[in-house]
Amino acid sequence: MSDLVEVHGNRDGTAVAGHVEHLMIPGPCRLDPDDAELLGAPIQPHYGPSWSAYLRQVLDDLAALLGAARTYVLPGSGSAGLDAALFNLFEPGQRVLVVDSGYFGDRLKAMAGAHGLQVRVAPCVPGRPADPHRVAELLPGCDGLLVTHVETATGVRHPVAELAATARAAGAVTLVDAIASAGGEHVDMTRMGIDALVTASQKGLGGAAGLAVVALTEAGRQRVESRSRRPPTWYLDLATWDEAAVDSPDWEPTPVTMPTSLIQVLGSSVRRIRATGIRTWTERQGRLAADCRHGVRELGLRVPAPEEHAANLVVVVADPRADAIRARLADAGIMVAGGLSPFADGAFRIGLVGRAASAGMVRTLLREIARALR
Ligand SMILES: *Cc1c(COP(=O)(O)O)cnc(C)c1O
Repeated sequence: MSDLVEVHGNRDGTAVAGHVEHLMIPGPCRLDPDDAELLGAPIQPHYGPSWSAYLRQVLDDLAALLGAARTYVLPGSGSAGLDAALFNLFEPGQRVLVVDSGYFGDRLKAMAGAHGLQVRVAPCVPGRPADPHRVAELLPGCDGLLVTHVETATGVRHPVAELAATARAAGAVTLVDAIASAGGEHVDMTRMGIDALVTASQKGLGGAAGLAVVALTEAGRQRVESRSRRPPTWYLDLATWDEAAVDSPDWEPTPVTMPTSLIQVLGSSVRRIRATGIRTWTERQGRLAADCRHGVRELGLRVPAPEEHAANLVVVVADPRADAIRARLADAGIMVAGGLSPFADGAFRIGLVGRAASAGMVRTLLREIARALR
C-alpha cells in the first residue's frame, strides 16, 4: 500500500486544485518518480551542442522503439501530430478510407474532412476489430488508409499489419493513430508496412502531456517527399523541421522553442522501456491488462473487446451501473474515465499507463469495484 501513498499539495501546504489521488484514465499518466524529478530540475535551453545531441538520442530511441526511419517530436498534443501527418501525406481532394473504430476513428474522419480530403468510411461492428477483407473491398480508388491502432473508446486493438498490407497492395499509404498503443503494444512500422504513425507523450510512452510524435518509414518519407507542393502550414510542415535539423544539427536543430523538460521526461521514459526490452515490456503490460479484464469479468461486468483483440493499455467495461461505479471509485480516490462512442453510455474506461500500470493498482481497483457493487 505504501507505494500508493503520495504527498500532494504545494510547498506552502495548500491543496492542488482538482486533486485526484490515483489516476487510472487512459492518459495522462502519473510519471515514474525519476522522470517526475526532471520536471523540477533547472530548465535546459533548446540549443547548444549537448541539447542537440540529447534530442538526437531521443529521436533515435523513438525510431528504434517504433521501427521507424525518421521521427519528429512536435510540441502539441497527439492530435497536432495527426494534423501534421495529414498535412504532409496528403493533398486536398485526395480520397482516404477511415476505419470507423469509434470516438477516435470519428476524430480521424473529422480531421481528414478538415484537410479537404474525400472521406470513405470502413464500418466496424462496435467493439470488434476492423475486418481486413471489408477494408480491402473499400480501398480501391483511395490514396490512404487511416486507422487507430487501439481505439481507446472500445479497448480494441485493430490488426494494423494486415490492414497496412492490404493498403499497400491497393497503392494506398497507411497512417496509424497509435496514441493509445505505442509503448504498450508491439509496433514495428517497417515490418508491419505502416508508412506513418502518430503517438503522444502522455499514454503508453509514459511521459507528460504536451508532445506529439510523428514517425515515418522510408516509404512514408518518400511519400511525403513526392508531394506536388509543400503543405499550407509552416509549423506542421515536416520539411520545416528537416531543414532546421540539417541547417544546425549541432546547435539549434529545431525551428521553434522546445519544451525541453517535457522532452527529457519522454526521453527518460522511452529509455526505461528500451532498457527493459520492448518485448518484455509489452508482454508485462499485456498480462496486466488480461488480469484486469479477468478480474472485472469475475465481478460480473462485461468487457466488450474479444480477448485476442483486447488492448494492453486500456480496458473498457460496459455495465449499466457504470456511472455509480465511477462515483464510488472517485470516493475511494480512484479516477477512471467515462465511456466514449460507441460505448458512450453505461461504460467506463480503465487506463493502465504510467504508474497505474502496476499489479498493486489493479488489485486496489478491483477491490474498490467489488465494494461499489455490494
Ligand atoms: C488520447 C487519444 C487521442 C487524442 O490525443 P491528444 O493527445 O489528446 O490530442 C487520439 N487518438 C487516440 C486513439 C487516443 O487515445
